[in-house]
Amino acid sequence: MSHGPLVIAGRQVQPGSHARVDVPLPCLYTQTSVFMPVHVVHGQRPGPRLVVTAAVHGDEINGVEIIRRLLQQRALAHVRGTLLAVPVVNVYGYIRQSRYLPDRRDLNRCFPGSDRGSLAARLAATLVREVLDGATHGIDLHTGALHRENLAQVRVSLNTDARLTPLAQAFATPIILDAEVRPGSLRAVAAARNIPMIIYEGGEALRFDEVAIRAGLRGVLGVMRHLGMIPERSRRAPSKPPLVARSSLWVRANQSGVLLSLAQLGASVKKDDTLGIISDPFRPADEAVTAPDDGILIGRTNLPLITEGEALYHIARIGNRDTATGQTGDDRHILDPEDELNQSIV
Ligand SMILES: [Zn+2]
Repeated sequence: MSHGPLVIAGRQVQPGSHARVDVPLPCLYTQTSVFMPVHVVHGQRPGPRLVVTAAVHGDEINGVEIIRRLLQQRALAHVRGTLLAVPVVNVYGYIRQSRYLPDRRDLNRCFPGSDRGSLAARLAATLVREVLDGATHGIDLHTGALHRENLAQVRVSLNTDARLTPLAQAFATPIILDAEVRPGSLRAVAAARNIPMIIYEGGEALRFDEVAIRAGLRGVLGVMRHLGMIPERSRRAPSKPPLVARSSLWVRANQSGVLLSLAQLGASVKKDDTLGIISDPFRPADEAVTAPDDGILIGRTNLPLITEGEALYHIARIGNRDTATGQTGDDRHILDPEDELNQSIV
């Protein structure tokens, strides 16, 4: 059984071939042309159509490297179905080393976008039309914000689609965070089109994190195996099932100062454990920053200079063991939707 060519930006990609298609975008004010390169690995055999996107936030570059390594995998030569990989979605932010677009919009609040809207809306609409429409599954690769480091983790809204839990488990990060879909995000537009999409988070903006890159690559390949796009490995190392966090909370600074951080990402913390100490050369008294609840440390600031109210630590609550079933009403995550640094939570 064969399937037909895939058409993207007016170009046909034949089954059994790999092409890079440069999707045109609005040019720079220098009249310099701008394209969003899309790698199309179109298998000889029909199967799922998986979309993998990175740098929707232009400064989140671990995913760019994850996709580069993904495209080198020999298993892709005989892929079943189609891989559409977009190493840099927000090309404008990427070349400016910025999370945002030149108009300061966050692309991940502008989906599904519009061809007559803002630059962000036009970019969003182009991605949806040329890449997302027709996909069967999606993975969107992110990192923490500037100076914010995330433990490698999958974020997914577990109760919205029964296909999401097995995808998240196939990605096999140590922790899965049940996170609501944010309106205007790529994940939201995927959900609206009935395309199960998971988010991978790992590392921080504008930095390569080798551990997060490897975990991300392994995760994408795990999903492709789960979907039958590439063969299972003959010998699989047994891995522990991921912990599922039903909720998470941020620990904020009660005062301004200099943070001496003690807790490491991935640490299991108990209520009242000291996570760090706020100190500085101007005052005699130090203040301990303590954990308000038990959990796993999944994010933290790496910049010691902090201002009162700033979010310092992100703790995932591991409730009800690791069953990926219902979310209880009183145990929902309390991510602050207005918080700047939560903007990597999509
Ligand atoms: Zn992001």
